[in-house]
Order: sequence, then structure tokens, then C-alpha cells
Amino acid sequence: MLKIKNYVKAESLEQAYELNQKRTACVLGGMVWLKMGNRVVTTAIDLSGLGLDTITETESEFVIGCMTPLRDLELHQGLHTYTKGAIRESLRHIVGVQFRNCATVGGSIWGRFGFSDVLTMLLALDTEVELFKGGRVCLSDFVKMPKDRDILVRIIIKKTPLKVAYLSQRNTKTDFPVLACCIRLSENGVRAVYGARPAKAFLLEDEEGLLAGMGTMSVEERKTAVQKFADYAARKVPTFGNMRGSAEYRTLLVKVLTRRALEAVGGMTDEN
Ligand SMILES: Cc1cc2nc3c(=O)[nH]c(=O)nc-3n(C[C@H](O)[C@H](O)[C@H](O)COP(=O)(O)OP(=O)(O)OC[C@H]3O[C@@H](n4cnc5c(N)ncnc54)[C@H](O)[C@@H]3O)c2cc1C
Repeated sequence: MLKIKNYVKAESLEQAYELNQKRTACVLGGMVWLKMGNRVVTTAIDLSGLGLDTITETESEFVIGCMTPLRDLELHQGLHTYTKGAIRESLRHIVGVQFRNCATVGGSIWGRFGFSDVLTMLLALDTEVELFKGGRVCLSDFVKMPKDRDILVRIIIKKTPLKVAYLSQRNTKTDFPVLACCIRLSENGVRAVYGARPAKAFLLEDEEGLLAGMGTMSVEERKTAVQKFADYAARKVPTFGNMRGSAEYRTLLVKVLTRRALEAVGGMTDEN
């Protein structure tokens, strides 16, 4: 059970940061993960009064406050259009609407959970996190950093011309994914991200150039290239077994979801 001795509704980020320097203090997101644990918290720090629950879209980026509920990301028209539905697809399977109204993007990214659909999706985009002390850090670097006592303030998604598709496999609706896959194509090539392996999300680049020049390939050539990349991903992405599936099953999923996601971003049509 979670026990909280003192509750403080922070009046500033400075105050929240200072309070959080004590090892037994804890920043609150939506609390849906925190409440599952056994822990005694001396000071619970609530960021909900700091106006960090909005999504701002500019010409070049989306700026998302850490207290923004996952449901707001799911329903945001700008994010939906920019990702052609991928962000909505990555979120809509997470438990249920009421749950996604509570869970925050800050808690989801700070947690760096292996099973995270949110992390898998955002790693495929050009995403940065803004930390109160640490400043702006590329999300792919942030996931490798140890959890410290900083505060995640915002998430920034830079708008780059891209095509992106998100797919996940679940044993049953609302459960954690057995595997999550997000593929993004841009002028810099392909970036594939695999979550729920079940370890933390893994980024795969096209080191063998299998999809290089895909835009100029014929449909037949593209089909072959997509299949080769799916085989390459199955070789390169480390998978492990747990109660939801074996490593072998996950590797098969890597192959299938990679192919399908590449098809979805235009691997099989002349519309590139
Ligand atoms: C039953 C269940 C099923 C789930 N299924 C899925 C799923 O299928 N896919 C998926 O992607 N996710 C899933 N999740 C995770 C969920 O979507 C959220 O990511 C998770 O609950 C954390 O969000 P929260 O806002 O509740 O954070 P909290 O529980 O409030 O906090 C989580 C951690 O982050 C810290 N924290 C929160 N905000 C900040 C901040 N701004 N700065 C610094 N530290 C902060 C907290 O101190 C805590 O350590 C599931 C969670 C549960 C409980």
C-alpha cells in the first residue's frame, strides 16, 4: 500500500524541485502507477497547480506539459494529423478511457517502463524532454539516464516531415503489449522502435541500407526490401520471455509487425 505523510500542492517548480531532493519525497503524476506500489512517502509533491497540463502546437513543434493526461494526447487533432493516427493507435489500447484521463505523459515517460506504448511511440518521433535542472535532453538519451531527483517539466515533439505507423500485439484487450513496434520513415531513412520486448524500448537503424532509396523503388522492389528489413529486425532486436510470451514468439512478432508497419507507411504502394 502507498502511504503518504505530507501532501504539498507545489506553487512553483523551484519549490517542487527543492522538496523532491529528499529521497523519501515523491512527485505525483496521475498516480495510477504509484498507487500500485508499497511505499512510504514523506512528502507527496503535486504539480497540478502549475499549468503543465496543456498541449501547445506551433509551426515547428508540439510542447506537452508533464501533467497532460494520455487521453488529451490521444484526442489532440494536431498530433493525430501529424502522425496520421499513429499516436492515437499507440494510446487507445492502454486500459480504458477513465484510466487514460488520469495517467499523465510525465509519469509515463519518467517511469521509462519496458512495456510502455507511450515511450515506444515518442522514441520514433523527434522528441526531447525538458528537465527542471537538466534542461532539454533528447528522449533517446533520457531513457538511458538513471532516475535521479529532477523533475520532468515538458515533452517537446519537433515537427519533421515523416511517415509513421504504430502497431502492438496484446494477448487480451487492455493488457500490457507482448510487443510494440513503431516505424518512422523520413528523409534520414528509417527508424524502428520496439517496446515490451519485454525490456525497455530498442531503437533499430537501417545499418545495412536495406530500405535506402525506397521512394524510387518499384512496388516489387519495395516488397523485397520490406521483407529483408523485417528479417534483419528479427535478427537484430533482442527479445526475452516472460509470462506474456516467449522470446521466440516475440521475435516472430518483430518480423510480422515490422513488415505490416512498413506496409502502412507506404512500403507497398506507389504513393510515397
Ligand atoms: C494496470 C496498469 C496497466 C497499464 N498498462 C499500460 C499499457 O498497456 N501501456 C502503457 O504504455 N502503459 C501502461 N501503464 C502505465 C500508464 O500508462 C502510466 O504510464 C503510468 O501509470 C504512469 O503514469 P502516472 O501519470 O500515473 O504516473 P505516477 O504513477 O503518478 O508516477 C509514476 C512515476 O513517475 C514519477 N513522476 C511522475 N511525474 C513526474 C514528473 N513530472 N517528474 C518527475 N517524476 C515524475 C513518479 O514519482 C513515479 O515514480 C499501465 C499502468 C497500470 C497501473
